Order: sequence, then structure tokens, then C-alpha cells
Amino acid sequence: MSEIVYLNGEFLPLEKATVPVLDRGFIFGDGVYEVIPAYSRHAFRLPEHLRRLERSLDGIRLANPMGDADWTRLIHEIIARNQGDDQSIYLQVTRGVAKRDHAFPLNVKPTVFLMSSPLVPPARELVENGVPAITATDFRWLKCNVKSTSLLGNCLLRQAAVDAGATEVVLFRDGYLTEASASNVFVVKNGVLFAPPKNHLVLPGITYDVVLELARTGRVPHEVREIPEQDVRSAEEIWITSSTKEVLAVTTLDGRPVGAGTPGAIFRAVHGLYQDFKRKIMRQAA
Ligand code: PMP
Repeated sequence: MSEIVYLNGEFLPLEKATVPVLDRGFIFGDGVYEVIPAYSRHAFRLPEHLRRLERSLDGIRLANPMGDADWTRLIHEIIARNQGDDQSIYLQVTRGVAKRDHAFPLNVKPTVFLMSSPLVPPARELVENGVPAITATDFRWLKCNVKSTSLLGNCLLRQAAVDAGATEVVLFRDGYLTEASASNVFVVKNGVLFAPPKNHLVLPGITYDVVLELARTGRVPHEVREIPEQDVRSAEEIWITSSTKEVLAVTTLDGRPVGAGTPGAIFRAVHGLYQDFKRKIMRQAA
């Protein structure tokens, strides 16, 4: 069965979905997106994803084309029309099709696109052994809180990681940790879990919030504060988080072992809490 996508009011097979070349998403990367995991066909943290979408749209001065009830219906319809109980739902809104001009066009309908792909949790081997990461200067723009489809900076950084045989690239701006090319970053130092604050320099990750909630309920000592580069380089543990990666330990940074070079005790505790939490959600959805 072919993958069914949604484009501007229509459900159709992926191969049939096309947009005009003058779409501002294609010409300027003028759009925003969300990636929402669905477990047992239940969209995970949907209100939070819709709130972030609303903020991203506000950030690029684009009116939300739909209310939350319509988004919710549409997302569940895409889940229903595709195969697999666990899916990753991608949605994108661009400023629409107009004659090429940097300034915003008037009276143009935004382009709305949704698709589904299988949601595959990270392989056990990655969870058990951790993953390699490199570091780089965060040269992206100053609105990283907007989940924009303009991802060239992130693509260049992630490719640098791939070229180095690494899973992610941990980013520093002005001597402080921001995030990674497609994940948030946590560190453990002296037994305390640290997370950089949510500001304009990082994407406010949905998984980031879940991890902090689990730290709170699991009584893991934690603090949200600016993290100097030196604290990352001397950390006992480094983690990356995202909706698709969940929580993974970084076990080498720039080729040097992080802590003992294996996923640490606090990682194992919080990863366990995350899996319990996911199982609970799947049971409730079933
Ligand atoms: N930061 C960046 C730059 C990302 O691209 C992502 C994932 N798309 C994240 C953080 C993690 O966000 P989430 O937990 O919502 O997947």
C-alpha cells in the first residue's frame, strides 16, 4: 500500500503530491514544520506540538491556517490512512505560492502538507553502547526556537558529523552549549543533570520537556542553566534527545571517551523511566 499524504485539502499517494516551483517553501525555505511521534496510533504530546507549531508560525508572522481541533482531526486521519501502529508524522506549512519576491505576498494561501513514515525506535545497540558525537561552532541564525524548514545550517552541521562517522554534532555559541544539529543536549556533572535554558538559541524540544519531567518525578538532581563548553568537555555523561532518537548517550566526543566511555548510571535510570512512560502511553492508547 502506498503512503498517503495530505496536501492542501486532499489525501493522495506520496508520488502524486506535487507543489509549484514558486512555492516559497522551495524558493526561500519560508515555512515551519513539526515532527510528531504516534505510538499505537496515538499522537504523542499533541497539544504541546500544536503549541510549538503556533509559536513557530508566530515567529515567521504566518497566520495558523487551522485551529487545534482541525489539526487534531487531520493528524489522526493521516495516522488512520497509513500503515503501522507507530508512525512519525511530519507536517509543514509554507507561506504559499507567489511571484518571487522576498517581501511577504498578500492574499496567498499557505501550503499545508502532512506525511507519515514508520517510527522505528533506536536500535538496542545504540542504547546500550551510546553514540559518537563531534563538536562545532553553532553558526545558525538567532531564531533557533522557530522550527523553520530553512535547515541549511543544520544540514551542513549534520553532514560534518556524518563525514566524521559521528551520529550528532554538539554545538557551542560564544563558549556555551546550545544543542545539536537535530537534537537537544543534556550533560551530567558531579551527579547533577544539566540542561541549557530554552531560549532563542535552541529548539524547545518536546523530548527535552519529557526528560526534565522524568528527572523531577524520578528525583534525579537537575538544573536548567547556561552550560560552559568546558563543562561539556569534562562531563561525566552527555545525552542527546529528540522525538525519534528518544534519549541516547554520547559516549565519545571528538574521539575522546565521555566519562567511562559507556552510557552512565543516570542515563540508564532516565532511559528506563522514558521507556516505562512510553509503555504507559501505549497501554492507554490501545
Ligand atoms: N533541536 C533541533 C535542532 C531539532 O531538529 C530537534 C528535533 N527535530 C530537537 C532539538 C528535538 O526536538 P523534539 O524533542 O521535539 O524532537
